[in-house]
Amino acid sequence: MPRKFFVGGNWKCNGTRESIAKVCEEMAKGPSVAEANVEVVIGVPFIYADYTREKLRKDWVLSVQNCWIGKGGAFTGEVSAEMIVDAGIPWVILGHSERRHLPELKESDETVAIKVAYAIANGLKVMACIGELLEERESGKTQAVNERQLAAIAAKLKEDDWKNVVIAYEPVWAIGTGKVATPEQAQEVHEQIRSWVASNVSASVAADVRILYGGSVTSKNCQELAGKPDVDGFLVGGASLKPEFLDIVDAHKAK
Ligand code: PEP
Repeated sequence: MPRKFFVGGNWKCNGTRESIAKVCEEMAKGPSVAEANVEVVIGVPFIYADYTREKLRKDWVLSVQNCWIGKGGAFTGEVSAEMIVDAGIPWVILGHSERRHLPELKESDETVAIKVAYAIANGLKVMACIGELLEERESGKTQAVNERQLAAIAAKLKEDDWKNVVIAYEPVWAIGTGKVATPEQAQEVHEQIRSWVASNVSASVAADVRILYGGSVTSKNCQELAGKPDVDGFLVGGASLKPEFLDIVDAHKAK
């Protein structure tokens, strides 16, 4: 079966009730995706999840952008996977490079992997982000870094868990920088990731798992990226708050 195209939006720590209402109004102008070969999932700040659900078009689905590593309890400020499920939110973004690399957060491969496994075990679907820093790319470590981050996650999952995972390859040097990977660079890494999954998880998971590209995706570059055989969609930051996000969703037609 062909992989269903997937477009994730990541609103990060942005928005007010007023701006969210406006974005949702703008996004409602695009054609319905209910029957289309694309799934659209919007990652919102926790505090606005309910409000966004009220305003967001009903053929798009909600995600949050983080969760606690395990069961809730005395963990001030945290939100558990169980709470996210209870709130009726099906998806969570985990391992985003901002959480891995911001000095205030510094989530390790192991922390990300624990979160992914716990979220899935408790009924969430996960956009699991991986990707190399600029200096890692420049020193020829791209493949090794992506495989290390992926291996940490794979070590904690059962084969069946993978149906609830999409992998987002997000080169850190391309996130929020306006510097997009070329379609060839993206395809090269996506192919390496799929082949790693085939060798280390299974051929059928490799055939089915969706691998998204993230990093300065816009209405201008999305068609060419979507044309690559191993690019199954996008995770979009900045442009997910702009009308051009509708064009990025529409890129599923390039498949
Ligand atoms: C992201 O935050 O996941 C992202 C890809 O951001 P941007 O599209 O703004 O580069």
